[in-house]
Amino acid sequence: MWIVFIGPPGAGKGTQCSRLVEALRIPHLSTGDMLRDTNRDSALGKVVASYIDVGRLAPDYLVMPIVTKRLAERDCQLGCLFDGFPRTVHQAEQLDEFLVEREIRIDVVLHLHVAADVLLSRLLKRAELQNRKDDNQETISARLEVYRTQTAPVLQHYHDQGNVLEIDGDQPADRVFEDILSGLNRRK
Ligand code: AMP
Repeated sequence: MWIVFIGPPGAGKGTQCSRLVEALRIPHLSTGDMLRDTNRDSALGKVVASYIDVGRLAPDYLVMPIVTKRLAERDCQLGCLFDGFPRTVHQAEQLDEFLVEREIRIDVVLHLHVAADVLLSRLLKRAELQNRKDDNQETISARLEVYRTQTAPVLQHYHDQGNVLEIDGDQPADRVFEDILSGLNRRK
């Protein structure tokens, strides 16, 4: 199965993606994880960090090769869960092109939605508990704004393709996961 998971920062995407890859046994392609894995001491890592640390999107020339390289790996031939990718309409179009060439289509786009005020308080709470460099007040606002202006339009792109499954993220994590599984089952 080919699944795209879209949700704003703080929606609980990480938790749900972990559960989903375990339940479906498909590879997890998280561009955030892959970018964070770049060695911060290397020249490339410094460039990547300069975007992540301020909550801005890394440029496509850094992101796209990471994605296409991962997709060429053996375990990704029958499907994967895209997490945090595509983040812009341009990335979505590039992914479409890549998949069409291989006669693959996205089965479902999961949209985990949560009201903006809930997101902000969740992110501020997480910032207190964890020590993520991109979880301070300024960066949180930047990431929410980037989501609103650059990533939300990706949803319209997929709505036009008719494969979006809306999930209410403002519920306990177990309920959210049940909704995801029952939504996916209805699509089979
Ligand atoms: P995430 O873990 O998905 O929240 O991503 C953390 C950070 O990595 C984002 O705030 C961006 O700086 C960067 N990032 C992750 N995925 C992408 C992407 N598809 N395009 C550009 N930047 C990304």
